[in-house]
Amino acid sequence: ISFNSARFLTSAARLDQCPPDEGVEIAFAGRSNSGKSSAINTLTANSKLARTSKTPGRTRLINFFSLNRPGARLVDLPGYGYAKVTRELKEEWQEHLEDYLLHRQSLQGMVLITDIRRSIGEFDRMMLDWCEHNQLPLTLLATKADKLKSGQAKRALNTMRGELAGHGCVQNVILFSAMKKTGLDQTRKVLADWLDE
Ligand code: GDP
Repeated sequence: ISFNSARFLTSAARLDQCPPDEGVEIAFAGRSNSGKSSAINTLTANSKLARTSKTPGRTRLINFFSLNRPGARLVDLPGYGYAKVTRELKEEWQEHLEDYLLHRQSLQGMVLITDIRRSIGEFDRMMLDWCEHNQLPLTLLATKADKLKSGQAKRALNTMRGELAGHGCVQNVILFSAMKKTGLDQTRKVLADWLDE
């Protein structure tokens, strides 16, 4: 499978607007500004792919990207914690997100994006608990690794691994940098394996 072939497929605000629930898909989640769009763009070698989610009004949408194998998709979930929305909107979109997570049969795995300089947040815990509960494999990308010196990055990664030790759903914790392309091959391998299952 080639991730470089990823193309924007469609956006959905609700579960009934998602593409047919067939084939296999991998979802990307993370708080706003964690580096989720940059990670998706790096993995797909397409600097513009996930930018759509940044334009006003699309931040709450679930964005689907098709790959070169029919029925294989990447899914950009709405970033959590976007400041400029009201509480009602936040609740509404959290409901749609939950709806997706609960009912999507084609979902094969979750990539959780976290900034390596920050500890696991409330939203990250929610996603971890959810994956744990639903036995969905999760890979954590500790991104922006280039912001730290190599020793610091390794320590931060170990701290994260420690924090996640109780979660059986966590398959990998990968040091990542969109800027330096750190962890790129390893992450692509994980995604390819999930899509082949
Ligand atoms: P999103 O809101 O989670 O989609 O985050 P973005 O991908 O838009 O990234 C948020 C900010 O972090 C932007 O200013 C990016 O340029 C920056 N950023 C993202 N990934 C990296 C990285 O690996 N290294 C560095 N140095 N900056 C990054």
